[in-house]
Amino acid sequence: MIILGEKLTLSELRKRLGKLSLYDISTWVKSRNPEIRLDLGQPDVPVDERIIEAAVNSLRRGETGYTATAGINELREIIAEREGVDPDEVVVGAGGKIMLSAAIMRASLVGLISPHWTAYERTASSFDTPVKFFKTSIEDGWIPHLQELGVDLLILNYPNNPTGRIIPKESIREILELAEDEDVKVISDEVYAEISWRDFTPLREMSENVITVKSFSKLFSMTGFRLGYAIGPKKDIRELQKFMEATITCVPIFVQRAGIRAMELWDEIRARISEVYRKRGELAYKILSKKFQLTPPDGAFYIFVDTGVDSTLFVDKMVDEGISMFPGDVFGGYDTFVRISLVSDRLEYALGKMVKVKEELEDS
Ligand code: PMP
Repeated sequence: MIILGEKLTLSELRKRLGKLSLYDISTWVKSRNPEIRLDLGQPDVPVDERIIEAAVNSLRRGETGYTATAGINELREIIAEREGVDPDEVVVGAGGKIMLSAAIMRASLVGLISPHWTAYERTASSFDTPVKFFKTSIEDGWIPHLQELGVDLLILNYPNNPTGRIIPKESIREILELAEDEDVKVISDEVYAEISWRDFTPLREMSENVITVKSFSKLFSMTGFRLGYAIGPKKDIRELQKFMEATITCVPIFVQRAGIRAMELWDEIRARISEVYRKRGELAYKILSKKFQLTPPDGAFYIFVDTGVDSTLFVDKMVDEGISMFPGDVFGGYDTFVRISLVSDRLEYALGKMVKVKEELEDS
């Protein structure tokens, strides 16, 4: 808890609270008002004007009422065509996260490969769903070597938040085979699938046991529209649809119209956006790999960097320089790591400061 007007370091805050949550860190970062925010999962590229126009036009046409729970037909159809599935294998929802929550809520034991996106753990804890963690290491290139799952739901996330990695197809296949043998349902969180520059095969093409979760938040920067979808076996999709019915009723129709326009612009936007993050990923790797341990990113817009020191201390020093990033504890206890979001066009400057901070720490 931060008391208004107090100027605490993150290390002091951790001492006070014992353990830091994502919420504590976000509140702290905001209170320090850094000039460059590399802690956010929010793309800095603006939403395409044509997508905004589609939403505004829909509202002006008077599309302000309820719609079908699973999504309007035009949207489900254009998604189905793009993904190569039937429209009734698609359900639209308010962002990818609600699909994940619906699955986590019902599970008895969720398996997470760490490092993992913090929200899985937070969601599980708010529904009292226990979690089993499968830790991976940078030395292994973040590839899991699993012998047994022993869970009823496994969440996989490639391209990965926070590492930016896509593990080799063979490793994914091994995990999917293990899940099939143990009858474990797999959720493949592919919200970053289109932001990638390494071959990526959708996991549902490798196993029938998979529900895929996708989002308009990342590729199209439409985070605040709250639009995502799930693809999967009809039985699972019907279950998700029931959950939407019981919770959100439907996604606002003008948001869905924006989604249709986004799908029409997919190829154009994908080519442009992937290139933006590929270049930033390469730049980040070039600058940081001389001083830090990290794997080159294959997709998404994150890098996960070993600072070699307590990452809370490192984040403190960086925030003093006006640059924010997340300490690695919240991604599964990687407490010398930081996650850096490649969501600024001032990366060269910001990462140069990281090198400077590291050198200062080495000299002190
Ligand atoms: N999965 C991962 C791995 C994410 O990083 C995010 C967003 N930070 C989401 C899902 C959720 O996306 P949405 O905005 O569609 O809920």
